[in-house]
Amino acid sequence: MEEFESGAAFAARRDAEDPLAHLADRFYDPDDELYVDGNSLGLLSADAEDALDSAVDEWRDLAIRGWTEADPEWFHYGERLGDRLAPLVGAADEEVVVANSTTVNIHTLIGTFYDRADGTEIVVNDLDFPTDHYAIRAQLRQRGRDPDEALTVVESRDGRTIEEADVVDAIGADTAIVFMPSVLYRSGQLLDVERITEAAHEADALAGFDLAHSVGVVPHDLSAAGVDFAVWCTYKYLNAGPGSIAGLYVAERHFGETPALAGWWGHEKETQFEMNPTYTPAADAGAYQIGTVPVLSAAPLAGSLDVFADAADATDAGAVEAVREKSLGLTDYLVALVDERLPECEVGTPRDPERRGGHVAIEHPEGYRITEALKARGVVADFRPPNVVRVCPSPLYVGYEDVWEVVEAFRAVLDGDEYESFDKRGGGVT
Ligand SMILES: *Cc1c(COP(=O)(O)O)cnc(C)c1O
Repeated sequence: MEEFESGAAFAARRDAEDPLAHLADRFYDPDDELYVDGNSLGLLSADAEDALDSAVDEWRDLAIRGWTEADPEWFHYGERLGDRLAPLVGAADEEVVVANSTTVNIHTLIGTFYDRADGTEIVVNDLDFPTDHYAIRAQLRQRGRDPDEALTVVESRDGRTIEEADVVDAIGADTAIVFMPSVLYRSGQLLDVERITEAAHEADALAGFDLAHSVGVVPHDLSAAGVDFAVWCTYKYLNAGPGSIAGLYVAERHFGETPALAGWWGHEKETQFEMNPTYTPAADAGAYQIGTVPVLSAAPLAGSLDVFADAADATDAGAVEAVREKSLGLTDYLVALVDERLPECEVGTPRDPERRGGHVAIEHPEGYRITEALKARGVVADFRPPNVVRVCPSPLYVGYEDVWEVVEAFRAVLDGDEYESFDKRGGGVT
């Protein structure tokens, strides 16, 4: 086994061997920062910028004709982008569409599938991203159910991770839906989608997933795993821009349900402009669109997906498989460096690569002030309470030397007690 070398020379050699290294040149990195926050907001690529510019050109040059003459035509924009996203999540084209925001997609999919499921309870976990619970609770309230009774919240044993066995144990005869994240937003734990889906189905419940922190960095095989429905955003690893349009998946066997949140954009396309007062939902996942597709918040995704296509071409692998391979190399390296160079810190992310998403949680009681001090040094990571500095080496534009430099900056911030000159955390956005 090759002896692990942590130094800069090792990093330089890995970068030189990296088949995706050239893709970084296509991304804008403000002030040449070390940007390791791509799991919160991915960077702009020249490709995404061009795609947005083209959409604006089409608006200017075609005006109303863009609905039928733009490329792709705006009328089917959500479906066409869905076709291109489908391979990234292992689904058929018709099972994926881009529409709405992630939170709205949770509302409509939870509402729809709760109505059709047999049970009365929804299983979630206590480390979920908050918006997921807000939306699910609201859907339960609208159905006259007390969310405190209808929600089964799987508790974490260690404050960082969720044991799949505990999820399986929480599923019972009353379970309607198990709704879990693929990757926990704070610790970066990757959950076993297949196992959870299987356990849900054994109890005649449905399995839905929030893929916000895995899409574009962890390959998925939603159809083969039998997942019933899923949601994700496109502004994290997919780099489609702040508030960019979200994605969703509905398994083909569930086509034909009436969406809980109905709107004319989810109407059967062939007859949408007959303007019927009665609603006929589209026969596929397109039914979960609600209002007019927001072309300008969807266009950058078209460019972003070109970068993924080039990642596939550069490696003879699937796009996300290539990205995942690099991601694991980067996070392995990062975890090893934290062990070696930052003994005051703990790694809150599972060490088993099979249980790790695309980022690493570095824990320190002064995490907030460390994050601020890193920013002052041009290292952009983010803080999540109570003590987590999230470092995300987003593989399309972060390399091994970058990871080395991030850890060296972290070391310097700890050494000089540099963080002590920053204010303690007050209110406000972090
Ligand atoms: C980022 C994220 C969201 C964001 O939802 P929006 O509707 O886009 O604001 C939702 N769920 C999870 C798990 C996330 O990580």
